[in-house]
Amino acid sequence: MVLVAIPSLRVEDFPDERAASGRWMLLGDAGGLVDPLTREGIFFALRSAQLAVDALTRRHHTDPATQYHAAIAQEIYPELQMAARLKRGFFHGPFTRLLIDALERSAPVRGLMRDLVGAISRITR
Ligand SMILES: Cc1cc2nc3c(=O)[nH]c(=O)nc-3n(C[C@H](O)[C@H](O)[C@H](O)COP(=O)(O)OP(=O)(O)OC[C@H]3O[C@@H](n4cnc5c(N)ncnc54)[C@H](O)[C@@H]3O)c2cc1C
Repeated sequence: MVLVAIPSLRVEDFPDERAASGRWMLLGDAGGLVDPLTREGIFFALRSAQLAVDALTRRHHTDPATQYHAAIAQEIYPELQMAARLKRGFFHGPFTRLLIDALERSAPVRGLMRDLVGAISRITR
């Protein structure tokens, strides 16, 4: 069996994290733009590409790298940081056992989990 680790940023990574500088930009997985809780990265890869194109093609007050980093820091990092914080309380034995019991017994909890996993981006905006 091949195990694939999907990288993501930790809460403590965010203050020093840079998405771009000078003549480089990090997009998608390369920039750690993966939800630490759900491991979704497709939306963030596409969105970071849009933000990079915007920074490179539109006139802004700052250079493209500064503009791109500011957009990522404003729009994407807060959501990922919140998910990283939630992750700490999520993936440990007692909570997982409790969650599985609740999922087995309760349709509303199953619905909530479906919404959480499927639409966490919308919930946290
Ligand atoms: C098993 C698995 C399941 C996943 N499921 C989901 C999911 O359900 N939903 C979701 O949102 N996300 C999911 N993800 C995460 C998602 O796939 C990534 O976050 C997303 O694809 C990141 O896009 P990207 O463009 O940054 O990187 P990638 O999609 O990895 O694209 C990078 C590309 O660069 C190429 N490359 C690498 N090095 C070089 C080089 N030196 N020269 C040229 N090309 C190179 C690679 O071959 C690759 O094609 C999953 C990831 C994995 C591993």
